[in-house]
Amino acid sequence: MKTQTLLTAQVEFENRRKHCSRRGNEAEGLFTPSCASLRRRLPFLNSACLTAVLLLQTAVAHAQQDFSKVEIKTIHVAKNIYMLQGAGGNIGVSVGPEGLLIVDDQFAPLADKIEAALKQLNPGKLKFVLNTHFHGDHTGGNAHFGRDAHIIAHANVRKRLGGGAGETKPGLPIITFDDSLSVHFNGEEIRVIHVPPGHTDSDSLIHFTGANVVHMGDSFFSGRFPNIDLGGGGDVRGYIRNVGEAVKKLPPDAKVIPGHGPLSTAKELNEFHEMLVETSGIVEKAIAAGKTLDQVKADGLPSKWKSWEAPTLGTSRWLEILYQGLTRK
Ligand SMILES: [Zn+2]
Ligand SMILES: [Zn+2]
Repeated sequence: MKTQTLLTAQVEFENRRKHCSRRGNEAEGLFTPSCASLRRRLPFLNSACLTAVLLLQTAVAHAQQDFSKVEIKTIHVAKNIYMLQGAGGNIGVSVGPEGLLIVDDQFAPLADKIEAALKQLNPGKLKFVLNTHFHGDHTGGNAHFGRDAHIIAHANVRKRLGGGAGETKPGLPIITFDDSLSVHFNGEEIRVIHVPPGHTDSDSLIHFTGANVVHMGDSFFSGRFPNIDLGGGGDVRGYIRNVGEAVKKLPPDAKVIPGHGPLSTAKELNEFHEMLVETSGIVEKAIAAGKTLDQVKADGLPSKWKSWEAPTLGTSRWLEILYQGLTRK
């Protein structure tokens, strides 16, 4: 797609977004059976342009990345659950007598390496892929793994990946849900719980109820500032609320797999929530005082948040996300 076409598509999408509203209920009953009753209505921006823009942006962003040097690390989480780290979002793995289930699958060029790491864990078949949301660093391997496994995700993941109803295309989730869903596999119930718009409008948290492990997807960046995809249906206040709900409802002693960052527990999730509340509070105050984004950036954040910077998302970008998200009508 040419730059001009891309710009036109972005402008068109932005105009459409401004004309749309969204609302979501509180995610009561997270990690409990009552979340089956969690109801949401979400006017969806079904824009082919948006999908094209997002896919292109992802492709451009990762075109320079040299995947040949990436190694896949396997980390034991609890009982039969493992976490794989390579490049992109952390992968959760359920290993057992019924075979394998994975949560997210990073980038397409890493699929062979991920497959080799999975074979090391268990020679059984990969039966299911769960996607925490639609971003390419979590769904890039879908086309590869979806040849044999069933891909399950929230309906908006499928829509955001460009899948119309009944359409067959490599990499699309073939089982979709609106609120929550359970997979009964390897001796436990694996609950997939959709949350209101936060990181995107397609986010789910995955609870391995037997192993007591929660995969948060990009609703949790451990020890670093998160990306919030405002163009992909994300919402700053919704993001913070979702994390706050997860903090409250997290089962005792649960292990927490973040979308990005090291394997964590309630402690790191609490710290993440504190960071979100404090830094967003600083920006809220500045907005109320009439400060511009440039002024907010010039003021910066207290030095205690310096260590939360990641190479891809520093203080300045985080302030930009907060400012844009909090001033949006
Ligand atoms: Zn991610
Ligand atoms: Zn993401």
